[in-house]
Amino acid sequence: MSTEGPNCWKCRYFKISWDPKFPYECQSMNFKSLALPCIEVARIDGRPCQSFRAKSADAETPDTEKKQGIKGQQTDRYV
Ligand code: SF4
Repeated sequence: MSTEGPNCWKCRYFKISWDPKFPYECQSMNFKSLALPCIEVARIDGRPCQSFRAKSADAETPDTEKKQGIKGQQTDRYV
């Protein structure tokens, strides 16, 4: 059994906010925080975050990244 709880960095609801005092944002529960939202949730609720939803593979890889890469002996990433 894994002891790891939800990880905001892998969650589709996690955003970086505009506010330097509260740089992290959970768009599922609609709050900003200084610490990672999942840590705040666990601290306040006493349970791991129940709203975690993993980012989809498409969300993690922008279209521009998908078109780049190694082709045979060539790479077009830094052209
Ligand atoms: S839903 Fe949970 S895991 Fe996702 S950003 Fe909010 S606190 Fe973090």
